Amino acid sequence: MTAAGDARRDRPARRGETEVLTLRLTCCERTWVGPDRAHCCRRHRGCGHVFDDPDLWDDHRRAGRCLDPLALGLMQTATGVWIRALDNPH
Ligand SMILES: [Zn+2]
Ligand SMILES: [Zn+2]
Repeated sequence: MTAAGDARRDRPARRGETEVLTLRLTCCERTWVGPDRAHCCRRHRGCGHVFDDPDLWDDHRRAGRCLDPLALGLMQTATGVWIRALDNPH
């Protein structure tokens, strides 16, 4: 790997791109990309939703029960992953 500034060389640069995380997971009839997502699996009596990170998962799980992500003000991406709403009106 070379330092920045060498990017205009006429050579293939695909090698790094293939290392981008494209791990695809399927569970509870949902498919998502990325190993860092937090999935609330129905096999563990969860709701089946997929959250952007473990913090969101914690937010939706209170006292052993699942809360509705919508009620928490989360947004769902096109791939079905629940994320924090950026423009969350208070
Ligand atoms: Zn699952
Ligand atoms: Zn859940």
